Amino acid sequence: MAVIGTGKMGADHVRRLHEVISGARVAAVADIEPERAKSLAATIEECTAYTEPAAAMASQEVDAVLVASPGPAHEAALVEALDRGLPVLCEKPMTPDTASSLRILEAEQRLGRRRIQVGFMRRYDVEYAKLKGLLDGGELGRALMLHQRHRNLAMPPGFTDEMLITSSVSHEVDATRWLLDEEIAAVTVHKPRATSLAPDGMNDPQFVLLETVSGALVDVEIFGHCGYGYQVQAEAVCERGTVRIGDEQGLRVSVEGRWGGHVPPDYVERFEDAYDREVQAWVDATRRGEVTGPSAWDGYAASAVCEAGVVSQRQGGRVEVELVERPDLYR
Ligand code: NAD
Repeated sequence: MAVIGTGKMGADHVRRLHEVISGARVAAVADIEPERAKSLAATIEECTAYTEPAAAMASQEVDAVLVASPGPAHEAALVEALDRGLPVLCEKPMTPDTASSLRILEAEQRLGRRRIQVGFMRRYDVEYAKLKGLLDGGELGRALMLHQRHRNLAMPPGFTDEMLITSSVSHEVDATRWLLDEEIAAVTVHKPRATSLAPDGMNDPQFVLLETVSGALVDVEIFGHCGYGYQVQAEAVCERGTVRIGDEQGLRVSVEGRWGGHVPPDYVERFEDAYDREVQAWVDATRRGEVTGPSAWDGYAASAVCEAGVVSQRQGGRVEVELVERPDLYR
């Protein structure tokens, strides 16, 4: 396969495909930074480095594509892959706005079959999957509320207020739609006073309230500069009980009069197992000629919710989410 974008996620996926995943081989990598692609390709046998994503996808050796370039570059890569009929695993967000996501939905429908999986890997996390199983099983009754927390040690340079929603909260948006099996109808973003640890001008943390079509309420704390590690937690409040995930269950060490555990520094460590499961499931489905994970519709719906969130972030107040009718391909 070809991996497009060889930065933090792309390089980690190349390592994963090479060392962990069975049934796939990285034959091509592409990055607009030639040296980055070249030095990564040099670590893999029979892997060619390209600067043009289209050239990597054109290689006779390539049957599938993993897109890990930045969000604004995804549309061009997805169009290229669809034109070639190649299956794609595209890192989230599918595209950064609703108009471009709609163009991708339309292009895939013209092809007449699903080719795109979007990298919402929380669905492959063991605890999230158990939570989904419990909610679907009905033992706890209907879910009434979700509380979600998404905390980062610090954000990379260039990370904006908008990206807190479009890049970070997009994970909770997808988790909400998937866990509750319904669309999100409205978004309200609140901005508490900002931490002094955030760059000037960034409102960090933010508190996002999602309302689902059937009236469930979902809150998301997004905190970009919590300063102590990467933490993702969720709690479902249901009619007959509650269920929490994301409380670190690793080693509890007692030493020198204190007890404690480890908070991972970032998502690469926290969700390592989920990424492994996501990519293995995608490779297995691709070899069977199927697409089984989060679809282009899920990518589009997340973009639409995040776009409403950005409007609320700028203007204040509650903003309704507008979705086109769900096409037959995604029913
Ligand atoms: P990064 O900046 O570390 O790497 C991006 C790479 O893409 C860079 O090497 C850059 O030179 C290259 N690039 C830029 N434009 C390109 C183009 N047009 N064609 C080919 N390569 C191009 O970014 P990252 O943190 O690795 O993020 C990459 C993607 O992964 C983003 O979509 C991001 O939202 C997503 N991501 C997902 C998760 C997750 O948990 N699923 C976590 C972090 C990032």
